[in-house]
Amino acid sequence: MIELEKFDKMYEGKAKILYETSDPNYLIQYFKDDITAGNGEKKDTLAKKGIYNQSICTTIYEYLSECKIDTHLIKSINSREQIVKKLSMFPIEVIIRNHAAGSICRRYNIRKGHKFSTPLLELFYKNDSLNDPLVVDALVTEMNWCDNYELKEIRQIAHIVNHRMIEFWNQYNITLVDAKYEFGLDCNLKIILGDEITPDTQRLWNKEGESLDKDIFREGNDMLKVSSVYEHINALINYQSIGQSHNPDYL
Ligand code: 5GP
Repeated sequence: MIELEKFDKMYEGKAKILYETSDPNYLIQYFKDDITAGNGEKKDTLAKKGIYNQSICTTIYEYLSECKIDTHLIKSINSREQIVKKLSMFPIEVIIRNHAAGSICRRYNIRKGHKFSTPLLELFYKNDSLNDPLVVDALVTEMNWCDNYELKEIRQIAHIVNHRMIEFWNQYNITLVDAKYEFGLDCNLKIILGDEITPDTQRLWNKEGESLDKDIFREGNDMLKVSSVYEHINALINYQSIGQSHNPDYL
């Protein structure tokens, strides 16, 4: 691929910055050290978090690509940055839950840990000022946040990603509790998995049911523990041999 020049900032979110590049079809995604919870109400900085998350996200997106799932990742270019496809993002967050945790427990008074017989997919309208409210399909299509065909495909892809991610974490004896996925259209109007998959966007439990994700930050103030969890997940999937490849054929 041609060398890209980094241009102006296009968008800055809570955990990442997107930069325009010399090629209009590609962006540079930069992972920050900021960590937030409760829609930014709780904020802190965690040294090296951006490095851990960039590395974790790259490994996961390379694995999904081996599983024939289209992601926006082109390649990692340094410890904090990736070249990604420029997408026109749908303003929806797709949450898939394998076990109950977080907002669904509060919303319906469901026991934390309840295992859903079928992975439960929920859609949320991506809007910080409204606190990302839960939405039904009819409203998503009524408001043209995406059309019926796109929504059907997004649901299908999200379930496949969830299935592959369950297998991925199983290799490390980790349970994928739930995750958030975001999708967009590329320049050929193909639906592509964008944003990131990291411990910021997934709930991960070890066999003892202990959290290995951002819940440590959401629920406590021990920043050393938060840091050690992100470092541990990065080391686990990038530096520790599990005696087999990430290649899905080995799973
Ligand atoms: P909940 O609905 O329980 O708050 O979140 C469900 C899952 O989606 C969790 O894994 C959580 O980390 C992820 N998630 C939900 N909303 C957001 C969000 O706005 N930002 C990030 N990074 N993750 C989210």
